[in-house]
Order: sequence, then structure tokens, then C-alpha cells
Amino acid sequence: MATTEKLLIEVATHLSGRPVISVRVQEPPWNNMSGACWKTMGFKAVIDVNPGANNPLRTFLHECAHLKFDWPAMDPTDLWKAEPGSLKILDETRKQLNALPRENKADAQAGTWARYAIEACWRYQGDNVFEKQLNSLLNYSE
Ligand SMILES: [Zn+2]
Repeated sequence: MATTEKLLIEVATHLSGRPVISVRVQEPPWNNMSGACWKTMGFKAVIDVNPGANNPLRTFLHECAHLKFDWPAMDPTDLWKAEPGSLKILDETRKQLNALPRENKADAQAGTWARYAIEACWRYQGDNVFEKQLNSLLNYSE
């Protein structure tokens, strides 16, 4: 497993407190979504981050926040196994989903984590800023 992928899983597990088994950098099965998270039939967590997202770090952290807050209410599903972009979602449905209170809550938490990562990452060695930010998040505590 590549270093970044391993780090993403460690950070997602640490921040969300959920059993994250995979963070896939690919378009989610829902077409044109910047990110998604899933509860598998085995009650494990999977996160998708669209590499085309405006801010992949922020998208990743937003999905971690959903796992943290919304996990108990999430239904186990096999939909995460569908091909990237293969599930079409109506614009109207997308608007309704984006207007749910859980979105603001996840965004606020993602913002807190992102600010921490940006401020704390200078303490870590390496040339890859994204990996330094992930390493700093491994030490995030509330
Ligand atoms: Zn969301």
C-alpha cells in the first residue's frame, strides 16, 4: 500500500473513531460528487475523495466528519462497490442533500481539522506538504 493511502486510512480512523478500511482517491460511485463515505455490509467504513475536488484535504476531512457524526445513522450498503460515476444523481436530489444540517456540521468540523493541519504541519519533515498535514492530524486531539 502506498504511503499516502496508508496515512489517509490512519488519519481517517483516528479522527472519525470508526473502522476505516479504505480511502479511495477516485470519483465516488455517485457521479460528480467531490467525496462520499460508506458503511459496508460488514460495518467497516470506506471513504472516496474525488481527485478533481477543489480542495481534496478539505473533502477528505469532510467525509471523516460524516463518519464521526453520522455513522450510527448510516445504513450498511454495497453501493460503494459500483463503478466511479456510475450512479446518476438528480440535480434536485443533490440540492436537497447539500441543504441537510449534517452538511454544515461536517463542514465546520472539517474546517477545524484543516486549520490545525495547516498550522501544525511545519513541525513535520519531508517535501510533501499533504503528507505533512496528514502526519500532523495523526496527533490531533480534542
Ligand atoms: Zn457531506
